[in-house]
Amino acid sequence: MSGPLPPSAGRRAAAVGLPLAAVAAAHIGPAVTWLPAVRRRLFPGLDGTGHPRHIALTFDDGPDPVSTPRFLDALDALGARATFFVLGDAVVRHPAVVRETVRRGHEVAVHGWSHDRPWLPTPAGDVLALRRAVDAVQDVTGSGPLWYRPPYGILTSGRWAAARAAGLRPVLWSAWGRDWTARATPASVRRTVEADVRGGGTVLLHDTDRTAAPGCWRAALGALPELVAGWRAAGLSVGTLSEHGTAAVRATVPGAASATAGARSSPVPGRTGCR
Ligand SMILES: [Zn+2]
Repeated sequence: MSGPLPPSAGRRAAAVGLPLAAVAAAHIGPAVTWLPAVRRRLFPGLDGTGHPRHIALTFDDGPDPVSTPRFLDALDALGARATFFVLGDAVVRHPAVVRETVRRGHEVAVHGWSHDRPWLPTPAGDVLALRRAVDAVQDVTGSGPLWYRPPYGILTSGRWAAARAAGLRPVLWSAWGRDWTARATPASVRRTVEADVRGGGTVLLHDTDRTAAPGCWRAALGALPELVAGWRAAGLSVGTLSEHGTAAVRATVPGAASATAGARSSPVPGRTGCR
């Protein structure tokens, strides 16, 4: 899952006079938030823990003109609402999909402008990119988003600062479906989610294959009916993050109060959860 920085990142760091080990060490603190155990212990609330009788259902990487409408239909059939973390560069290409998402009663949140990995600190760029994504969502939906989940769940210092500047609350997830792989099936997605999710959990799925194996969104879509039925049978309600009662998360890195946003932001090891 995680791994060393690639040679290209090392070359870029060397080119700007930054010792790679120092760069990595300075930024690994905030970035390890993608590790669920670390997240639960050090950043309560960041994993989306909410009301114990509620499940927050979330989807990342859209909007997608082909697959997102299929999820909207499935959620309508289930009578369930969810939070969709969208990418700004797709919002401007497919605004009608986003408007329809809101019209169906769902919540739209921000996943970033594009789906990139933050190999090197770009704090000013982080602020501009997130602001641009927020503006895109606001222009299309008519209201400002509340939540931010960075691509790959990598919350660098720069991204924390950008979220704070944009007035967004960072939130990751407490269970995922590993629905991004070519081998994912509805059954595997359901098993994977159910292994980790408890009442009060936030579930991460994807409504597009934009950054995943082609067509893998069908596994998440196929898992939905039984997942929702199972939660309801257990006495849990399903809905958006805003209905979830999630604990407030300050968009500040604990222990980093003396660091400036410009001095920290971060490259981070390889692949993580959200694709
Ligand atoms: Zn993603």
